[in-house]
Amino acid sequence: MTHTAQLRIARLAANPAVHRAFHWLHLHQPQLRRWHLEILRIPAPPFGEQARAAWFLERFQQLGLADPHIDDAGNVLAELPAASRTSNREPRTAPLILLSAHLDTVFPSTTPTDPTEIDTRILAPGACDNAAGLSGLLGLAAAFRHAQLLPAVPILFAANVGEEGEGDLRGMRHLFTQSPYANRIAAAIALEGGGASGVVTCALASRRFRVTVTGPGGHSWNNAGAPNPILILARALLSLESLDLPHANPRTTLNIGQISGGTSVNSIPESASASIDLRSTDATLLHEAEIALRQSLEQWVIDAPTPAARSKPSAAPPTLTIETIGDRPAGALADEAPLLVTLRAVDRHLNLRTEPGLGSTDANIPLSLGVPAIAIGAGGLGGGIHTLQEWYDPTGRNPALRRILLTLLDTAQLAAQNTTL
Ligand SMILES: [Zn+2]
Repeated sequence: MTHTAQLRIARLAANPAVHRAFHWLHLHQPQLRRWHLEILRIPAPPFGEQARAAWFLERFQQLGLADPHIDDAGNVLAELPAASRTSNREPRTAPLILLSAHLDTVFPSTTPTDPTEIDTRILAPGACDNAAGLSGLLGLAAAFRHAQLLPAVPILFAANVGEEGEGDLRGMRHLFTQSPYANRIAAAIALEGGGASGVVTCALASRRFRVTVTGPGGHSWNNAGAPNPILILARALLSLESLDLPHANPRTTLNIGQISGGTSVNSIPESASASIDLRSTDATLLHEAEIALRQSLEQWVIDAPTPAARSKPSAAPPTLTIETIGDRPAGALADEAPLLVTLRAVDRHLNLRTEPGLGSTDANIPLSLGVPAIAIGAGGLGGGIHTLQEWYDPTGRNPALRRILLTLLDTAQLAAQNTTL
């Protein structure tokens, strides 16, 4: 199988149209950089991807892709048609390959996003995650179109919403469950940030919660002694430090990522809340960790008498609510899956390395549904991901783009032959 995969890749790489596509990418790095900078200038906070989506729709239209549109979830979609319609199959049910990159960033709408350039580096929030994936997506679409390179089954290009944080993979979830494409996607490749070696083949399960403690509130002097939700929440969160989470094999992690509450320095707050991210390589352990987390919070908010309750037993007791704000399912691509065999063969051909790894990405959704999927870097180098110091350097991103292009073409061929991917 490996041997035949290697032969198929060598044959693909010898195709003149593939050469033209590689050549286009080689010559048009400045164009990819311009797109990259334009993307960064349009903020795309969680649940606020519309402006960036509109920009993408125009690019898809300009490139002459088929049926460019924005779907019900806000994903921007367009198709690259196949070389020839698979004879006996309805075009609307025929398989296709999804190539996606998420539009959203983790930064709120108030974050200035204008990029600065220092030599070849681009500095901006979201410069790598995921402007690298987005500009790579456009670059690949453009290379296919300019080279008149047609895949064996259609490629669905998607600039999708809702990958980060509380977006909870809603763009992908829609595509794979409600969208007319839901049952047609034979394999999915998500472009995620930079790099040219790491490939996510195993989807990390995660559960996310918003924990809120409420109390009667009041004046800091007149109502002194009423339960203070900030203090109670702080104590309850500290208790989570002593949860016994396995560090390795399987690894389980807990992060308290945000905290908020109160209205002014001289008011006893009426509420305080925190958001918590729990992840594990093992679904059972994730479930157990969630139970332990809930018990610990209940014990410290509901059961433990606070100093205030002891001194002023008449005060209304605090309440606790735990809301699930994220649920990312687990899944994994088998080591011998054709998509991975193809990728390894492409890497041998291009002298790159595949390092399969774990991640919580858009690939979680297809993987959890048994659709072969990977999340893969779009080349170049990046750092400071999810911080205001985020940067990206596109130098040398071309091999990674060639890698994705060849992987797409070979996977499309396999899908056209009805090979189980
Ligand atoms: Zn990302």
